[in-house]
Order: sequence, then structure tokens, then C-alpha cells
Amino acid sequence: MAEVTRVVAPNPGPYTGPGTNTWILGAGPVVVVIDPGPDDDRHLAAIERKLAGATVGVVLVTHSHPDHLPLAERLAAAHGASVRRYPELGDGDVVRVGTVNVTALYTPGHSADHLGFWLAEDRVVFTGDLVLGKGSSMVTYPEGDVAAYLRSLDRLLALEPRMLFPGHWDPVTDALGKLREYRAHRLEREAQVLAEVKLRRGTAMELTRRVYGPEVGEELLVAAEMTMRAHLEKLVDDGEIRIRTGSGTEVFEAKARGKVQ
Ligand SMILES: [Zn+2]
Repeated sequence: MAEVTRVVAPNPGPYTGPGTNTWILGAGPVVVVIDPGPDDDRHLAAIERKLAGATVGVVLVTHSHPDHLPLAERLAAAHGASVRRYPELGDGDVVRVGTVNVTALYTPGHSADHLGFWLAEDRVVFTGDLVLGKGSSMVTYPEGDVAAYLRSLDRLLALEPRMLFPGHWDPVTDALGKLREYRAHRLEREAQVLAEVKLRRGTAMELTRRVYGPEVGEELLVAAEMTMRAHLEKLVDDGEIRIRTGSGTEVFEAKARGKVQ
């Protein structure tokens, strides 16, 4: 298996876990760096220490969020390397550096510009924020797309990877188990949201309080509403529910039973 080394960025938090994982791929003399992380001098120095004299041949970035991308240009410039990310790097594109072949997988859902990186020889995927080592990924309105997210999970499942290297938290050895768990979790949420709308119509916030209220505190309700909106948007697109706008508020309600579209 290709050598994989992790450097955790000093940006721990509610959405980043212990910090962003910066991955060094290959044993040198030329290596690949995936997700250089935040623009932070200490983190750049920590990466250079782990490189131990190796040269960075290319810097790959899973997506443009501020905890993954900002250090890319500085790190690349220090090594005369290029930064590759979506859309200039697209689905199926192969990047060859040293003995390592990395295939880009277009995997939107968490963000519209999200790539995974697949090492076919080793059957491992660098998943960015599509799948995390712990907890669940954020798929929130307006950037997130639940339907695309589910398709991206299916895409990874079809590859039958044996290991995942996520953007946050530890590597996942039960790759298929984790992917199936993520898929089941989203579908369960969707079913729960649909059942709640069918029970009684409501605004996104009312539905958030009803579905998420018991498990998240008041301070997280606004964030939970963004997740709720992403689910509601998919259910509207799927024709399962509809939006009624009146007096300036959007109310989500079930479609009339038996009504012909
Ligand atoms: Zn992200």
C-alpha cells in the first residue's frame, strides 16, 4: 500500500473535530499532499517536518471550504508544484506523481465542488467531507444537495473500497459499513421529515423544532434548520411535498392524496 501520513491542522472545532486532516501520499522523493488545510504558519511548518525533505509534486484539494483549501497556494509555491481541484480537475482524471496514481471522483453533495481521491491499486478513497471518521457530514441549505450527496455515497459504495481517509477524524477501516451507515442515516432522516410534514404542515423552523428539537439544543436549531431545508428541498424536487407561500412565509405541506400531477 502507498505510504499515507497524516498531519492534523490546529483548527479543532464543532464542525472540524480534532482539526482538518492533511494527507501526505507516497514515500518520496516526490509526494502528493491532499487538503493542505487553513493558512496557518504552524501547520505549514508541521507539514514540512513530516515531508522530511521530500518534494511535493502536486497539491490536491477535495473542496474549497476554508478548513481545506487556503494553505494550498503557499505550500505548492514552496515546492514549485501545482494545485489541482474541481472543476479544472474532473471526474475520472488521473494524477500521476512518482509511483502514485490518484483518480479524481466528482462527489458533490456536501459542496458543489467536491472531489474524492481514489487509489485504485490500494482500493482506498480520500473522502474529504463526504464521509467523516466520526459523526455525520454537513449537507445544508443552500450549498448542500441531499440527492447529489446520496448519489456520491452510492458512487463510493460501487467502488467497494477497503479503507477511507476522511477530511476529519480517524481513518475508517470498515469502509463499506461506514458508507452504508451514512446512506441509511440520510434516508432515515428523509423518511422522518416526510412523515412529519404529512402529519402536519409547517415552516422549515417549525418542522426543525418538531424533528430535531428533542435532540439538539436551542443554540443549534438554526444550524439544524439548514439541514432541514436541504431535506425539504429534495422532497419538493422529488414531488413528495409542496411549498405554499402566503403572508411571506413558506409552509411545507403534503400533497393532496390521490391528486393527479
Ligand atoms: Zn467542507
